[in-house]
Amino acid sequence: MSALTIHVAGDERSVDQGTTAADLFGDDRAVVVARVDGELWDLDRVLPDGAVVEPVRIDEPDGLMVLRHSTAHVLAQAVQQVNPDAKLGIGPPIRDGFYYDFEVEKPFTPEDLKNLDKVMQKIINEGQTFHRREVSDGEALRELAGEPYKCELVGLKSNAEDAGEGASAEVGEGGLTIYDNLRKDGTRVWGDLCRGPHIPNTKLIGNAYKVMRSAAAYWRGDQANQQLQRVYGTAWPTKADLTAYLDRLAEAEKRDHRKLGAELDLFSFPDELGSGLAVFHPKGGVIKREMEDYVRRRHLEEGFEYVGTPHISKDGLFHTSGHLPYYADTMFPPMEFEGANYRLKAMNCPMHNLIFRSRGRSYRELPLRLFEFGGVYRYEKSGVVHGLTRVRGMTQDDSHSYVTPEQAPAEIKHLLNFCLGLFRDFGLDDFYLELSTRDDKHKDKFIGSEEDWAIATEVLEKACLESGLALVPDPGGAAFYGPKVSVQAKDAIGRTWQLSTIQYDFSQPKGFQLEYTAADGSRQQPVMIHSAKFGSIERFIGVLTEHYAGAFPPWLSPVQVLGVPVAEDFNDYLWDVLAQMKKQGIRVELDESDDRFPKKIRNASKAKVPFVLIAGEEDRSNNSVSFRYRDGSQENGVTIDAAIAKVRAAIDEKRQVSTAS
Ligand SMILES: [Zn+2]
Ligand SMILES: [Zn+2]
Repeated sequence: MSALTIHVAGDERSVDQGTTAADLFGDDRAVVVARVDGELWDLDRVLPDGAVVEPVRIDEPDGLMVLRHSTAHVLAQAVQQVNPDAKLGIGPPIRDGFYYDFEVEKPFTPEDLKNLDKVMQKIINEGQTFHRREVSDGEALRELAGEPYKCELVGLKSNAEDAGEGASAEVGEGGLTIYDNLRKDGTRVWGDLCRGPHIPNTKLIGNAYKVMRSAAAYWRGDQANQQLQRVYGTAWPTKADLTAYLDRLAEAEKRDHRKLGAELDLFSFPDELGSGLAVFHPKGGVIKREMEDYVRRRHLEEGFEYVGTPHISKDGLFHTSGHLPYYADTMFPPMEFEGANYRLKAMNCPMHNLIFRSRGRSYRELPLRLFEFGGVYRYEKSGVVHGLTRVRGMTQDDSHSYVTPEQAPAEIKHLLNFCLGLFRDFGLDDFYLELSTRDDKHKDKFIGSEEDWAIATEVLEKACLESGLALVPDPGGAAFYGPKVSVQAKDAIGRTWQLSTIQYDFSQPKGFQLEYTAADGSRQQPVMIHSAKFGSIERFIGVLTEHYAGAFPPWLSPVQVLGVPVAEDFNDYLWDVLAQMKKQGIRVELDESDDRFPKKIRNASKAKVPFVLIAGEEDRSNNSVSFRYRDGSQENGVTIDAAIAKVRAAIDEKRQVSTAS
């Protein structure tokens, strides 16, 4: 038998012809797939001479993807076992799980899903193996004659990327493959058109999977196509991982800002307004105003000048800026009147450019920093609109810094530090940065010269590295007019939210012919740096509501102190204390309801007020009050002056307060 040379995890090895990755790593159950010359391969594929082979474990990102996608096959097999008429769509892995689309007569009921879970467990316990089989187009079409959607994919394979989200899991460049599921005795139970790879054996899924829910989805994401039923599931390396994931979901659900927004009377989304358009109620209005006041003051302190611009404009402006036609899909459609097309603005920069251009500018004025709370409107598909975190109408805390090219590095650093400082004041302190650069394979989608991109990317990268924060590359994620840095913040339960973006723009200054007079009297083009700190006020309120689970720090709390008298007899005394606090600018409320004291305490705890002030006979006779905190701890007999000072200090220091100290 002739030998071949392969490279295994860095070592050169001589092996027999016919060797598979399973022969190399088979002893380690955690290895579920191999990376062969950079591509993921099933363990049982025969390795070619010269191959570079690495093991991929079940708990690595690639391993998890393969595990989840393999579980999607088991789901599809279960669906067709229960309902042989179900037609298969696509079944890719997604973040934390997978889905599979089916054409079925009736949507799945919760009972159906429970039953599928059971049928899947039987399939998994059978220890079915996955076998890869190469087929020609003709063979695939014959074999899949009963699967119209799969046949359509066969016809589209050269264009899998365009065929629909996830379609590249089934077909793609190169030949077609069908994966057969075989029982221990070698009989074929089921098969699916798929590029693979898969885990070697269904047993590896164990009981660490769950069918989660189902929803309608259009074939290939197009509303003109057939409506299918999408079943979502999740799978993890161990049962403990699955349990931890389900716990995280439950925690996230408790924190869902849409639910808390209604419970705490902060905001709502009236149908009459339309999808993705929020109204803030008085209590939510307090949070919004505190945030805006603070952010406005901080911008002024950091050298920004406050400006104002309208919500609509003639569309020529957006052609000058380059947003049209590039950005047309995400803008609201035009309104025509007086012979012109008007657009709701989706960004503020073009209007800030007009302010810059309104008169001659000298290098002495730079950096010139314009800031406003700009109302912008973006056409988000109704399927992606989500509470306050994905809206159609929002208020950006948007600024544009106009600088000389030499000033750009310092300004980017300035903006980055400014953003991080803001977040720390709002109680977020775990960040990393993402650097979005041009997609070098699709240069036509980006404007500007090689040199422009190289300089801009370098400047941003340097600022990121100097910040000392972790930096994650995002190739291809840049805006068409320049690269950007985004600040990603982790919340209280470890979820990541993209917040600030800082974008380097060499293009709009060109389009608007912006210039300043340099020290030598020549006319020069400034660099423009876009920066939204929170992204939008709406979104940030959504993020903070979830981060704090509605229990805001005192400075943001709609009601900072809630007075709860032990009995009605103490209403006047407590009101007198609250009135003194109110004079100190503290937001107070008194519970004068007929509810009994324990009920009042329960209501206070539901309202998540940071300071609950209690007074009974002892406090009244001593001229004191008692505090009750969110965690149920208490502090008794505090003098009125000390109580006021305590609340005021927590507000001024922007501290979170949940317990007696
Ligand atoms: Zn597959
Ligand atoms: Zn901008």
